[in-house]
Amino acid sequence: MSRVHRCSLLALVLCVGLSCVSVPGPRLSKDPATLRYTVTFVRAPTRALDVEVVLVRGTPRVFRFTSPGGVASVGAYREDGEHFELPVTEEGRVLLPADIRFLRYRYDLEAPTRSRGQRLFTGMGEADAWHVAGRAYLIRPHQTPPDLRVELAVEGADALLPWQPDETGLYRLRAEDLVDSGFHGFGGRRCQVVLPDAVLDVAVLGHFRQLEDSQVCGWLKQAADEVLTVRRTFPYPRITVRVIPVPGHEGPSLFGMVLWSSPPSISVLVGQDASAASFALDWVALHEMLHLAHPAFLPRVPWLSEGLATYYTEVARVRSGRLSAERGWEELVDGFARGRRVAGARTMEEVVSGNGFSPGTYWTGALLALHLDVEIRRATGNRRHLEDVLELLAERGPSSTLGAFGVAVDAIAGKPLFDALLARHLKRAAFVEQEGLLQALGVTAESEGIQFVPARDSVLREAMESRGYIRESPGIRR
Ligand SMILES: [Zn+2]
Repeated sequence: MSRVHRCSLLALVLCVGLSCVSVPGPRLSKDPATLRYTVTFVRAPTRALDVEVVLVRGTPRVFRFTSPGGVASVGAYREDGEHFELPVTEEGRVLLPADIRFLRYRYDLEAPTRSRGQRLFTGMGEADAWHVAGRAYLIRPHQTPPDLRVELAVEGADALLPWQPDETGLYRLRAEDLVDSGFHGFGGRRCQVVLPDAVLDVAVLGHFRQLEDSQVCGWLKQAADEVLTVRRTFPYPRITVRVIPVPGHEGPSLFGMVLWSSPPSISVLVGQDASAASFALDWVALHEMLHLAHPAFLPRVPWLSEGLATYYTEVARVRSGRLSAERGWEELVDGFARGRRVAGARTMEEVVSGNGFSPGTYWTGALLALHLDVEIRRATGNRRHLEDVLELLAERGPSSTLGAFGVAVDAIAGKPLFDALLARHLKRAAFVEQEGLLQALGVTAESEGIQFVPARDSVLREAMESRGYIRESPGIRR
């Protein structure tokens, strides 16, 4: 920690005031029990975020960046203007001296030293439309007492953060909302997808060559409608989606991700040269939205979350009519083959204990999800299914555990089956269950493609492909 200079309180107040001059914004309250953040989007010399935090008396003195690396030091000010420039440790921590009232620092969105692969998190954009993960630039108390409130205001750009602001644009949060503060968008354009019981607020952060914003929103609406073939209602009343064009690519979705902010936030990279027609076969946006259909598993269980989203990505596209049943099963069978190539002779347990995001993890998980769906249907005479497990868990809150998932499966099936079925998959060669399962469902992979033949569980397969809970939703607003 090094003391750099003193400045008067008056000068500090002027500095603080100046950041608000250009764009009048929300009024932060004077509540002394609330941490008050002001985030200001600045354009020169590079695009950056200036962050100021007004501390609460008694605030814990250890602050941190959840994902450090973007800020080297933080200015800390006492009431009388005494100023410290505090280094950020490698773990992202900042230890405050006593009686600090303000923190100020700048996060450079355009810092050239960051690797391209990390830019979705650390900052990517064009002109005045930028995308960044809150965890990269927002400092927060290391400990987050549940009663510690936060107000956050954004100046200098229209922002799309995961949370719903009040009518003045002020975000009223809890300190724990900043632990994973999701994806943030600054600038760009907006459209809104309206569902029967939910809205998706969408930021388009850059320019497409062939796409109108309404087509981007139409594509997201298609995905959201398909979530309604799996869940009775959209899983959250409002979520935010940021779409970032990537120059030099035609692919509709190059990459997508959900962050478990509260509520979750989604961002998708889309080729700048993508056409509306290319959205027809896209699965990425749907896959990310289907992650909202299951609870956040804590601790993380990638084979389960990815398995559920991967299985339902194909099921939902068949149910909506976007894929024929044959094509949907072909996607599943091809995916199993890709997973099998990665898995080799290893057990599922060995496959999923490695890289949590390899095709082996996704597709062994998807096979298990399919198997669970079939077993629940077998046990209940086709009256209950895996979606009922998701509905039951949704009633219990936004997060869950592997154990609670298994208990819910058994409750819906009306008999214990989860542990034994999981052990059958985990302990044996990955994908060894595939052949018998597809045979029972009457799904055969011929040289000319997928064929259906009468089999023991054909009726279950037909029920799995049926339209489930689908409803028409009102539309798109711009
Ligand atoms: Zn996923």
